[in-house]
Amino acid sequence: MPLINLKKKLKHFDQVNKLAIDSSTALFWLRRDLRLQDNAGLYHALKENTSVIPIFIFDIVILEKLEDKTDLRVQFIHQSLTQLQQQLNELGSSLLVFHGNPVEIFQTLQPKAIYTNQDYEPYAQLRDSKIKAILEKKSVPFHTFKDQVIFEKDEVLKDDGRPYTVFTPYSRKWKSNLTDLHLKKYPSEKYFSSFKKIKPTTLPTLPELGFEETLTAFPERVIKQAIIEKYDTQRNFPAIAGTTKLSVHLRFGTVSIRNLARIAQNKNEVWFNELIWRDFYQMILWHFPTVVRQAFKPAYDRIEWRNDLKEFELWRQGNTGYPIVDAGMRELNTTGFMHNRVRMIVASFLTKHLLIDWRWGEAYFAQKLLDFDLAANNGGWQWAAGSGCDAAPYFRVFNPTLQTEKFDSELVYVKKWVPELNTKEYRKPMVDHAFARERALKVYKEGLG
Ligand SMILES: Cc1cc2nc3c(=O)[nH]c(=O)nc-3n(C[C@H](O)[C@H](O)[C@H](O)COP(=O)(O)OP(=O)(O)OC[C@H]3O[C@@H](n4cnc5c(N)ncnc54)[C@H](O)[C@@H]3O)c2cc1C
Repeated sequence: MPLINLKKKLKHFDQVNKLAIDSSTALFWLRRDLRLQDNAGLYHALKENTSVIPIFIFDIVILEKLEDKTDLRVQFIHQSLTQLQQQLNELGSSLLVFHGNPVEIFQTLQPKAIYTNQDYEPYAQLRDSKIKAILEKKSVPFHTFKDQVIFEKDEVLKDDGRPYTVFTPYSRKWKSNLTDLHLKKYPSEKYFSSFKKIKPTTLPTLPELGFEETLTAFPERVIKQAIIEKYDTQRNFPAIAGTTKLSVHLRFGTVSIRNLARIAQNKNEVWFNELIWRDFYQMILWHFPTVVRQAFKPAYDRIEWRNDLKEFELWRQGNTGYPIVDAGMRELNTTGFMHNRVRMIVASFLTKHLLIDWRWGEAYFAQKLLDFDLAANNGGWQWAAGSGCDAAPYFRVFNPTLQTEKFDSELVYVKKWVPELNTKEYRKPMVDHAFARERALKVYKEGLG
C-alpha cells in the first residue's frame, strides 16, 4: 500500500479509537507490561475506576529509528497485543492501539485519568514528564506505578544514602530489604468487570505499521522449573537448555517479575541473583544516566580504540575465525538471542582482541537482540570492556579457545552455527590471540595512565 494511504489508514484507526474515550473513562497505558495478570498499574486503574480502557501506542519516535523492517521486537509486541486483544474481547472490552508521538496523542485526549507503569530509561522519563505537564494543564491525573522491577530508584541505597555501584553489597541489601509484600501478586483479575464495554477495534497490521512479518518462533512464555532447579550447574553451557530464555518476556512484561522472583526465592539462589542483576542495572541507569554515552569509569574514555570498520564487519557477520565468537554472532543474527556466556565472550573479543569501542558492540546488540534492554545491555558491555561500575578487570582477556574447551568441549554449540568448521571454507583466526592480548593490555594501560 502506498505510504500516503498507510498514513491515512493509521489516522483513521486513531480517530475511531478517540471516539471511545470520554471524560468518564480512565486509560491504562501499556508499555513494558504487556499482560493483564499481576500488573500493578492496571490493578490500580481497574480498582479505582469503573470504566477503564487499555491503550498501546506504537511510538514513532522509537519506530522511525529502526532500520530493519523485519525487526523482531516489533513483531513480538504486535503478537502480544493481538493476544491481549483476544483476552479483552472475551471480556467484552477492547484494546485501543495508536500510532504516533505519544506526547502529541495525549494532547488530543481528554480522559478521566491515565494509569501506567514506570519506565526508567532516559527517553521514557523525558517523554513522561512532557505528558504529565500536558495532562496537568487539562486537570487529567497521570498515575505511575512500580511494576517492572522489585526495587526501583532509591529503594536500595547504602547506609549513607548513596547508590551502590558494586553488585554483591547491593544484592545483600536488596535481600535484606525484601518482604513478602514486595513479591505479592496484584490480583487485577478481581476487577476485570471495570473494563469498559466497547466493540472490538481492529489492530493495525504489521505491514500497515510499516513492518514485515517473518516466520520467527519466539521463546515460549513458559517458566520451566526444571531448568531453574539446575540453573547453577547448567547455566554456562550454551549447547544445553540451561537458562530460561525468559528475557524477552521480562523485557516486554509478558511475565511478571514478582512471580518469577517468588519462584526463584524458593528454587535457586543463583537464578535469584540474576533477577537481582536486572534490578541492579536498572538502578545504575536511573542514578547514572550518563552511562548511556560515557564509560562509568571516566578514565576508560581515554582508551584509543582502533575501530577498524572491516574488522567490525567480520565480527558482526560471525566471520572472525574464532568458532565460539562466530557461533554466537550467527546465533544472534539468525534468532535475536545469544547465550549469556557467549555474549561475554563476543563482547570481550570485540573490545579487547579488536580494540573496538564497546559502544559499537552495544549498538549492534541493541539492533539485533530480541531481549534488548538499555540498562542490561549497557551494563553487560561496560562489564566486558572493563569500564563499568562492577566490571571485569581490564587485564582479564577471555581466551576464546579456553572458553570453548570449558563450556563447549564437544563443540556441539559451535558446530550448530559453524557447520563449515574444520573444512577449507572456514577462515583462519583474524588475529592471533597472544598478540591481541598483549596489544590490548598495552593500549588499556596507556589509556588509563
Ligand atoms: C554484552 C552483554 C549484553 C547483554 N544485553 C542484554 C540485554 O540487552 N537484555 C537482557 O535482558 N540481558 C542482557 N544481557 C544479560 C544476559 O546475557 C541475558 O539476560 C540472558 O542471556 C538472557 O537469557 P535467559 O533469559 O535465558 O536468562 P537466565 O539466565 O535464565 O536469567 C533470567 C533473567 O535474569 C535476567 N538476567 C540474567 N543475567 C543478567 C545480567 N547479567 N544482567 C541483567 N539481567 C540479567 C534476565 O532478565 C534473564 O532473562 C547481556 C549480557 C552481556 C554480557
